[in-house]
Amino acid sequence: MSFPESATIEPVGIIHTPFRQKFAIPRQPNLAGAKGQIVMQTDYANPQAFKGIEAFSHVWLLFYFHETAARGWKPAVKAPRLGGNATLGVFASRSTHRPNSIGMSVVKNEGLSVDGDRVVLNVSGVDLLDGTPVIDIKPYIPYADAVNKADDTLTSSSPIPRRNVIFTAEADRQCHALSARWPDIIPLTQDILSQDPRPAYRHKLDDDDKVYKVSLYDVDISWQIINGDVVVLSLTPLPAG
Ligand code: SAH
Repeated sequence: MSFPESATIEPVGIIHTPFRQKFAIPRQPNLAGAKGQIVMQTDYANPQAFKGIEAFSHVWLLFYFHETAARGWKPAVKAPRLGGNATLGVFASRSTHRPNSIGMSVVKNEGLSVDGDRVVLNVSGVDLLDGTPVIDIKPYIPYADAVNKADDTLTSSSPIPRRNVIFTAEADRQCHALSARWPDIIPLTQDILSQDPRPAYRHKLDDDDKVYKVSLYDVDISWQIINGDVVVLSLTPLPAG
């Protein structure tokens, strides 16, 4: 039988994450401890489909880059980690702009919750947008998936920034108040901002006039780079709606 010209794939679940927009999502999984809940859909909301999953500390998620899929793909893509305008071939990159728009991430397995018809796989270390369709879940099997002597000379030559994250007194007060609703808001803000999510061409600026905003959950976070540190200025809950 020959391969069909096209095949239909339907999501098995939809993941909920703190990331409401692409800006500031870590470039790969496990760079921040962000939690995700994969809410299984229709026929896949079946605990039998997860029998044995507790044996695995990590799982692979295959997912659809639903937010960028409509933009199609190009053979050469900008590589943010390389700064400026350097390009890589799409198949030599983890760009979201790729044929078939399929993403893959290894994430931590935080266990299955079953409540009536609702079947949710909890994970952490996610780099997925809230609402991303998950198309498959597979166990991470270290004996085959972990390659001991693998090389990546490209990324190892441009490490991810790590800056100190400082909260102003105002921001500190606000985030303690918000912790009641989102218990991981403080560590998550620290993880995300320590990686300096500014565009690469601004990374060398240790004092940046521009005030940046990211949203995590329903909270808008304003921050700035001052004296080499990330200074969190304020955390404002978005109006409900
Ligand atoms: N680990 C995955 C993703 C790498 S790219 C892989 O290697 O295939 C990571 C970026 O994907 C994030 O910075 C985020 O901006 C983007 N992203 C996450 N979910 C997305 C979605 N549903 N649609 C489009 N882009 C998404």
